[in-house]
Amino acid sequence: MPELPEVETVRRGLQPAMEGAKIVKAEARRKDLRFPFQKDFIARLEGQTVTGLGRRAKYLMADLTSGDVLLMHLGMSGSFRVLENGGSKNTLGQFHLPRSEDRAHDHVVFHMSSGASVVFNDPRRFGYMKIIARNALEDEPLLKGLGPEPLGNEFDALMLAQSCHNKKTSLKAALLDQRVVAGLGNIYVCEALYRAHLSPRRLAATLATKKAEPTEHAKRLVGSIHDVLNQAIKAGGSSISDHRQTSGELGYFQHSFQVYDREGEKCQTARCGGIVRRFVQNGRSTFWCPKCQK
Ligand code: ZN
Repeated sequence: MPELPEVETVRRGLQPAMEGAKIVKAEARRKDLRFPFQKDFIARLEGQTVTGLGRRAKYLMADLTSGDVLLMHLGMSGSFRVLENGGSKNTLGQFHLPRSEDRAHDHVVFHMSSGASVVFNDPRRFGYMKIIARNALEDEPLLKGLGPEPLGNEFDALMLAQSCHNKKTSLKAALLDQRVVAGLGNIYVCEALYRAHLSPRRLAATLATKKAEPTEHAKRLVGSIHDVLNQAIKAGGSSISDHRQTSGELGYFQHSFQVYDREGEKCQTARCGGIVRRFVQNGRSTFWCPKCQK
């Protein structure tokens, strides 16, 4: 499942092809993805100019001149390719698993006035697209209840402490809760906890004092979340231009993972000497160093 850095990388990659360009023609080659397309899906897209391409949690949001917003979610296996004037292709973003380029899974195509075609490919079809009037976004069930953006101004140690104050769950589960912070998934939660030297099993409530003030742990964790996301976005951003030249092989953020998928390897923390372990927590693999994560 793509996480926030991957979606942000895709957004930055799509921007040049979509922002300021008109959707001359739109194709939906099936009647559904994860959900059926709205009946007026194509009609509400064709002829509209994309005035901005934003992101909220793991949703891409294209603002249209009509006042509508096109919401796009990559699901498990979704990806976008940009075809420049029908020529060279570039699959956007780096993913832990390679993306499909099988034409049979090209489900949506936007033909842009920039000359580029934007192709959405999704073999497993857990992705989805929905058009929503901008003034109805606040009531949109898909977006309702989403917590703060981890890289936004409102997300800080105080906010995290207040959200975790009375939580009876583990720290890992709390960070995966999209109401606490939006857009983090299994990989970056493992990475952030590792960098903050905090155990994934620790009680979430230990991030707050009795008065719901942030502890040192909360401050350290927010710093680690910022660092790991910013580094991943930076790595992804640089990969887009590299990828144009290397045509084909998709890189991964994996090279920047310090603990995820490194079971049995030596801990990278200086002078730790521990070994990375894996266990299943809430149905997901947690990777951690029991020696330096307390
Ligand atoms: Zn360690």
